[in-house]
Amino acid sequence: MSRPRVVIIGSGFGGLFSAKALADADVDIILVAKTTHHLFQPLLYQVATGILSPGEIAPPTREILKDQKNVTVLLSEVTAIDVENKKVEAEALGTVSSISYDYLIVAAGAGQSYFGNDHFAVFAPGMKSIDDALELRARIFGSLEVAELTSDQEERERLMTFVVVGAGPTGVEMAGQIRELTLHTVKDDYRRIDPRKARVILLDGADRVLPPFGEHLSGKAKQTLEKLGVEVKLGGLVTDVDANGLTVKYKDGTEERIEAACKVWAAGVQASPLAKMIADQTEAQIDRAGRLEVQPDCSVPGHPEVFVIGDMMSLDKLPGVAQVAIQSGQYVAKKIVGEVKGQPVVTPFKYFDKGSMAVISKFGAVVKIGRIEMTGFVAWLAWLGLHLVTLTGFKARITTLAHWTIAFVSNARSERVTTRQQLVSRLAVKQLGDAYQPTITGTLDPTVLDERVDARNRRDTRPQEI
Ligand SMILES: Cc1cc2nc3c(=O)[nH]c(=O)nc-3n(C[C@H](O)[C@H](O)[C@H](O)COP(=O)(O)OP(=O)(O)OC[C@H]3O[C@@H](n4cnc5c(N)ncnc54)[C@H](O)[C@@H]3O)c2cc1C
Repeated sequence: MSRPRVVIIGSGFGGLFSAKALADADVDIILVAKTTHHLFQPLLYQVATGILSPGEIAPPTREILKDQKNVTVLLSEVTAIDVENKKVEAEALGTVSSISYDYLIVAAGAGQSYFGNDHFAVFAPGMKSIDDALELRARIFGSLEVAELTSDQEERERLMTFVVVGAGPTGVEMAGQIRELTLHTVKDDYRRIDPRKARVILLDGADRVLPPFGEHLSGKAKQTLEKLGVEVKLGGLVTDVDANGLTVKYKDGTEERIEAACKVWAAGVQASPLAKMIADQTEAQIDRAGRLEVQPDCSVPGHPEVFVIGDMMSLDKLPGVAQVAIQSGQYVAKKIVGEVKGQPVVTPFKYFDKGSMAVISKFGAVVKIGRIEMTGFVAWLAWLGLHLVTLTGFKARITTLAHWTIAFVSNARSERVTTRQQLVSRLAVKQLGDAYQPTITGTLDPTVLDERVDARNRRDTRPQEI
């Protein structure tokens, strides 16, 4: 008799840690994800600002799991889940697959939310993937390059104004890093502009930066940012974003127009659309952030064989953080092992909060672990140690440590390469529309896309059974 099959969607914290926790289980696992890597999202901002390379925070999932023989890793984007017939359909570079399961763990995470203004994304990319971080890197360094070229003072100021929307950990870290980059790293590299004069603005609708850290740490973080030279503007909602800048409306009713070429969106999250897809087929509900309301054991109501975990699950108001994804992944793995062994786990999922931290500047961070609060250098050391330990892979730890030593000792950054493709690809692909269907052997010239689409329609696109 064949062993039960567990299909895991996603190679992020939830997906990877549930797969690892099933290492000794008497099951076959198929882990299907739309990227070939496991991404350590908390350090994406360091890729965007030239400190780390993508490989350091995104090791290949296949390599991480190569010794775990009960796992098959597949690259594909899941496009459909059929809860009734226990199948998922997935597509990658023109290859369509239909994968059946006995147990399904859905850990597809969350994307950026523009609160109903998706058109802002064209001008203010979010930061959720390696693609996003490399595009932002190209926009940040590119703005300085074009500022060096122009002789128009107003245009130069616009190019040297960087706006980060959202003062949560990602926004705070990003604003701090852009400021340190312009203040120290590139200060002597230009002849016609003075990068130290670049404006970095951090905007949020709330009255505090880092609200979940509490009043004291929020105040300290704001103080550190301002000392660094970041302009912190609170209580303001972004009402419009275009190529040249953005408009903010403050709580007192005043409006401000900020001219800025480079905008970063770090303001909101929206769960993967797979959550709604499951909800539409079951009695499950989704919350305002698109997360699926799961049972206390992370399963979908009426479907004890389907689990939704991490950033996609709505349970007890748990935050969208890595530890929730890791612990829920490990918990559902334990549930599946129990069922396979005939020893069901009946205790609900219980989250253990290990604390939170955000780095603001070189040698400056805030840390909150229960009632313990730390700021400044001690907090920064704690941040450094924890991130080194939690990075996946020995190689990544060694090279990250080398890059950090360079960045923290000399202010230099080793990863300043940007390419034209990184800058323009996202929008270029968007302009090509649905007709653009890349394959591993390339794709056709856009002028012949129509013929290509006709050819695809004639091709047999029935999914292969896996
Ligand atoms: C910039 C940034 C900074 C952060 N900083 C911190 C921090 O300092 N501390 C902290 O605790 N948390 C932080 N977080 C949050 C943390 O990274 C997330 O909570 C965590 O990654 C959630 O894990 P997950 O497995 O649910 O989703 P993810 O890690 O997002 O993984 C989702 C996976 O699903 C795959 N996927 C998505 N859709 C599909 C599909 N249709 N088909 C196939 N595969 C799919 C993706 O490729 C990915 O592999 C940060 C997040 C970001 C974006």
